[in-house]
Amino acid sequence: MSQEKRLHTVTLDQDKCKGCVACMRRCPTGAIRVRDGKAKIYYDKCIGCGECVRVCHHHAKKAVYDSFDIIKNYKYKIALPAPSFFGQFNNLENLGLIIAGLKRIGFDEVMEVSIGAELSSDATRRVLKEGTIKKPVISTACPAILQLILLKYHSLTENLLNLLAPVDIVAKLARENAIKKTGLKAEDIGVFFISPCPAKVFALKSGLGVEKPLVDGVLAASEVYFKLLPELKNIKDCTEVASTGLLGFAWACSGGEAAGIMKDKYIAADGIENCMNVLKELEDNKLDHMDFVELNACIGGCVGGVLNIENPFVARSKIRELNKSLPLSKNSIESVGKELDYFKWETNPETNDVLRLDEDFMVALKKMSDIDAIMKQLPGLDCGNCGAPTCRAFAEDIVDGAVDISLCTRKETNENNNK
Ligand code: SF4
Ligand code: SF4
Repeated sequence: MSQEKRLHTVTLDQDKCKGCVACMRRCPTGAIRVRDGKAKIYYDKCIGCGECVRVCHHHAKKAVYDSFDIIKNYKYKIALPAPSFFGQFNNLENLGLIIAGLKRIGFDEVMEVSIGAELSSDATRRVLKEGTIKKPVISTACPAILQLILLKYHSLTENLLNLLAPVDIVAKLARENAIKKTGLKAEDIGVFFISPCPAKVFALKSGLGVEKPLVDGVLAASEVYFKLLPELKNIKDCTEVASTGLLGFAWACSGGEAAGIMKDKYIAADGIENCMNVLKELEDNKLDHMDFVELNACIGGCVGGVLNIENPFVARSKIRELNKSLPLSKNSIESVGKELDYFKWETNPETNDVLRLDEDFMVALKKMSDIDAIMKQLPGLDCGNCGAPTCRAFAEDIVDGAVDISLCTRKETNENNNK
């Protein structure tokens, strides 16, 4: 897919960019270069993890999301708050308060994404029992991780859990129910995810695993939070009740999804670097004895998403407190009257081949040998002065004709070492 066509989940304000290379060093996919003192994002390699937004102290990088005003374009508006959203508020004793508050700021209906999480846990247990997916089965709920696997770990695509993300499950159910309840046409009903991270923006808008996007907009948790906060104080008698148990809300934090499969042999890792280490071990068949692997790109899981406002560790503790008063689970595949297939991917997401040196094998071989030859001239310091994250990435850029080797300011170091 071309740079222009690919959906952007983070944007760059060139005027604010100081060229400090912090984002380039942090990007897990090598999607950033800094040339002529300014960063540039190569969107075909971007997985929307938000790391560059997190580390840019100059606020040059921003996560993309929809304006709250888009809800006005629809006759009937449904909010889908992420489980992590409930961990953003202080002294929240009643989850129903958030549901009541969302209705006061413009939504006609609220359906917690944690309902989809409980349904997904039920579906996952059944898929594991079917045994149709290669073990260890890898969770696909974190879209940044799913995209990372589709980009860099093609050998693991057979292990991917072929289920819709909880938000897609809830969006599908919410629209169906609203059509029955209101008699409106599908296009008059707006379904909006209140998201903790930009990776979800890409997944939901591009439709990873679905034939066409199931949500109409993705709103930032932080923006909705600040609209909601003043309203919460005005709610005197709250009659709303959350429709989820602790299994669903636990998905807000790393390990919550894995706990829901009710098996012992699982791994739950969080933070993009830890996840990449686990993916490497999976590729090397070192974790074949596991049943299930849950990976979350953000530290702490979805509570660590860059669109949240609360510190992830504090949010995690708040979720833990809230969960004390909840039953184990309130939703199952039977309770919503669906078959397992309803929860499965409608289409298999395609691998992203942008890291391939060339489609033609012989050309790729030639490029590989040119890269090796260039690497011998480079110092191997990965200093970043050339505007690429590593000497290897710089050598690839040279072979692609994007830059000239003269950009390397430390080349002499290697030449001297080789004498
Ligand atoms: S972190 Fe990246 S975007 Fe931010 S100022 Fe530094 S180079 Fe520019
Ligand atoms: S969002 Fe993540 S993958 Fe995309 S450019 Fe930023 S750090 Fe790289």
